[in-house]
Amino acid sequence: MNKECLACGMINSIPVFDITDWNKKDRCLKCDDALILQSDGSTHTCDIAHGNETVDQAMSKLHLHLNHAINNYTHRVRLIVGGGLIKEEVLGLLYFYQQQGYIVSYAVDSRNAGTINIIIRS
Ligand SMILES: [Zn+2]
Repeated sequence: MNKECLACGMINSIPVFDITDWNKKDRCLKCDDALILQSDGSTHTCDIAHGNETVDQAMSKLHLHLNHAINNYTHRVRLIVGGGLIKEEVLGLLYFYQQQGYIVSYAVDSRNAGTINIIIRS
């Protein structure tokens, strides 16, 4: 895919990454900035639990949203998970993802227990 460097404007051709396999070392050909780590400070909000999703469906939606976020410039994903099994499953996966370094951090929203804030890149 073509990705514009936020530092210099150069259009670079880089692969589409998966959250479990993103190469954070891909650099801009012109200014050498780490392209995939560039953030525009944006928040991507998504609800994976209020459309009668099964746990499996919710987890596959989560995967799509995380992939969307890493392939764009998203700073944070605001994930609406509700309060049931989906939330438990998501928290387990995010714990693993943070351990692996796929995401920076995550935390249940202090004002809404059914929402998890995930920091994708600083
Ligand atoms: Zn650049």
